[in-house]
Order: sequence, then structure tokens, then C-alpha cells
Amino acid sequence: MKKELICINCPQGCNLDVEFDKEKIISLEGNECKMGVKYAEEEIFHPVRMVTTTAAVMNGFIKLLPVKTSCPIDKSLTLNIVKEISKVRINAPVKSGDIIIKNILNTGADIVATRTVGKIGSW
Ligand code: SF4
Repeated sequence: MKKELICINCPQGCNLDVEFDKEKIISLEGNECKMGVKYAEEEIFHPVRMVTTTAAVMNGFIKLLPVKTSCPIDKSLTLNIVKEISKVRINAPVKSGDIIIKNILNTGADIVATRTVGKIGSW
């Protein structure tokens, strides 16, 4: 199989042409350093992503709280994680950095608020 990737490990953004089978990279072109090899291996065999979305807030001066995972998670779990977060209703006030959901879907990642939201009427 073949795939084109852009390495995002540094601003150079090398275009990678990767050929691989089920277990390993067969050939790689376009990388200007070894970090491109590691990036291609991870992106093809174990892709991960930080998830950023919003969660509903009750009694806050805004209705949606921006949140993110505390660490990158398996890319295939992204949709399930967003669905899980959509079930939550958070009561204001919330501080940036507060954990909204601990160890979401047993990934080891927490869902963390990235903005402070005060309670309506508390100003
Ligand atoms: S392969 Fe190396 S030089 Fe190219 S983008 Fe990745 S880290 Fe940067």
C-alpha cells in the first residue's frame, strides 16, 4: 500500500511518500530527518489525535465550554469521545484546567476545560 503524508513534527512540513504492508514501512521518501520515519510509522500503524470540542454549560455566561483531551488518543476513538462529551451538562462556574471527565472511555485521557466560564449573575 502507498500513502502520502505531511510530517508535522517541525515547520519544514516534509511531504512523505510511504509504501507499507500490514506490519512495516517498506520505503519512505521525502523526509529530511529521522523524525519523519517515526512520524510515518506512528501515523500509519498507531495514529493518535488531540480531541478538541465543546461541552454544554448550565447557568454560565456562555452555553458552550471549549474542552480538549489531556493527551493524544487513538484516532479511531475520536467520534465516540465527542459523543460521550455531548452527553455531559456542566454547572458553571468552571475554571480553565478543570477536569470535566476523568479517564474518558478508559483511554487514560481526561477531558479538560480550556476556558473559564463564570456563573450568570456572579459578576
Ligand atoms: S521529516 Fe524531519 S525535517 Fe521533515 S518535517 Fe519531519 S521533522 Fe521536520
